[in-house]
Amino acid sequence: MEIILGKRAGFCYGAGGAVEKANNVILNNKEEKIYCLGELVHNKQVIDDLKNKGIIFIDDIDKINESKKQERKVKLIIRAHGIEKNIYEKASKRNIELLDYTCPNVLEVHKIVEEFVNKDYYIVIMGEKSHPETIGTYSFANGRGIVLEKEEDIKEVVKFIKERSISKLLIIAQTTFSLEKFNKYVEIIKEILNKENANIEIEVRNTICNATKLRQEETEEISSNVDYMIVIGGKKSANSIKLYEISKKNCKNTVFIETYKELEDKVEEITMCSKVGIMAGASTPKKSIDEVIDLLNSHKIYKS
Ligand code: SF4
Repeated sequence: MEIILGKRAGFCYGAGGAVEKANNVILNNKEEKIYCLGELVHNKQVIDDLKNKGIIFIDDIDKINESKKQERKVKLIIRAHGIEKNIYEKASKRNIELLDYTCPNVLEVHKIVEEFVNKDYYIVIMGEKSHPETIGTYSFANGRGIVLEKEEDIKEVVKFIKERSISKLLIIAQTTFSLEKFNKYVEIIKEILNKENANIEIEVRNTICNATKLRQEETEEISSNVDYMIVIGGKKSANSIKLYEISKKNCKNTVFIETYKELEDKVEEITMCSKVGIMAGASTPKKSIDEVIDLLNSHKIYKS
């Protein structure tokens, strides 16, 4: 059995940077209470580790319920996926110090949205409707945005455009959206609007993160050439789910796991294969990847 480990498996610089900064801040913490709004990155193992070190995870800034005196000592970590615009305002009003670990790529998307909204554009955001990053990005559109998650949502988008007689439209994506779907949906939207002779200025900004794009391409390549594919990532991690979808399309023997423990009953089956691929999402720590490799390695020769 040959094991092919993706070169881009694991932490991207945004997620890795946020985890590193959170670890440093808790290490040097004296008396402040450190909260984190939402999951810093979508990985249970990382979150559990930070909880054990003392970071308090909350899902709403209003859950910080300190006395006025204590509030000044509260610090709030902003996750790699970013937050909604009004949370910055709320924090500032309450004197809560923000430790903003939003990935620079996500901040750039917020900037693009604000810039185009100020130029009277409406914004189509291709992304997962319930994902914190999409919700955050949407909030920067100040009511001039719509989220497109699936092909079926295109009808809604066209309706949205017509009802508002929109003349300027910007199309962007959640940083972890599938490039293939992005290109496909942009073409469909353009085709529909062209057929209807809609006089709309359409700007398209591919805001899919390069780390995501390269990881997806590598997953495509590896999964097309192996007998078994292991995708490691948080069950709520959008980018990991996409890697799983890509792999599954090319290799029917694909499993999506969070930790090596989910593989224990499959090791025999896996070691029967001649080539096994491993890929991991952008919020998967190295430790989780190493544990999978160690498990397989304890059965067969490992070749990277
Ligand atoms: S996937 Fe890209 S945009 Fe998302 S956190 Fe990582 S580097 Fe940033």
